[in-house]
Amino acid sequence: MYILFLGPPGSGKGTYSRVASELMDIPILATGDMLRAEIEQNTELGKSAAKYVTSGELVPDDVMFGIIRNTLSREDMKNGVIFDGFPRTLAQAKMLDEILSNMNAKIDMVVELYSSDDEIIARLSNRRVCPKCGRIYHLINMPPKVDEICDDDGTKLIQRKDDKPETVRRRLKVYHKQTAPIIEYFKAKKDMFYFNISTGGPPKIGRNKMLKVFREHKII
Ligand code: AMP
Repeated sequence: MYILFLGPPGSGKGTYSRVASELMDIPILATGDMLRAEIEQNTELGKSAAKYVTSGELVPDDVMFGIIRNTLSREDMKNGVIFDGFPRTLAQAKMLDEILSNMNAKIDMVVELYSSDDEIIARLSNRRVCPKCGRIYHLINMPPKVDEICDDDGTKLIQRKDDKPETVRRRLKVYHKQTAPIIEYFKAKKDMFYFNISTGGPPKIGRNKMLKVFREHKII
């Protein structure tokens, strides 16, 4: 089962894909997390990606193609993948189709998550992450027990540099221009199932909708 979570930054792709991954026991391929790890480790790839990630621009397609080819050739990716943050351009979407078809596989389901730009800017300005374990907090809706400290490992939480409002605005512009058009590309396909979820309301409603669709398709 190959599933894509599509949607603007801060629409909940990370949260929803984690829920789906646990229920289906399928690994997540989250390109943003992979790029941040490369930057953190100061690898050649990280050095070339850093300026795009911190400014909210997309890392060039040819760099992303290399990452995706390497990752999808791994043994643990052979029986299914949940994609979080990939593809983000039409060229990436077409390349993914090609790689999967060479593996005798295809995208089975696309889940589009959507929220208004204002909701996203507000949500991301309150998002904090644990730099050690990656756990995500929201200062108002999902705060840590002790101010600014991770409940799990006591590490001081950080705000992602690209979650600052001016960078979020840039990321939203990039999303509307370069990523949103691929939704039509996937919707036009007849051999996969597409559905969307509004993530602006209470998290339980969106999550239940997703679980209902998964049950209807007998994938959980
Ligand atoms: P995310 O964690 O998914 O919000 O991604 C953070 C940043 O990583 C993005 O703003 C881009 O700079 C970069 N990035 C992640 N995935 C991709 C992709 N598929 N194509 C290009 N850039 C990406």
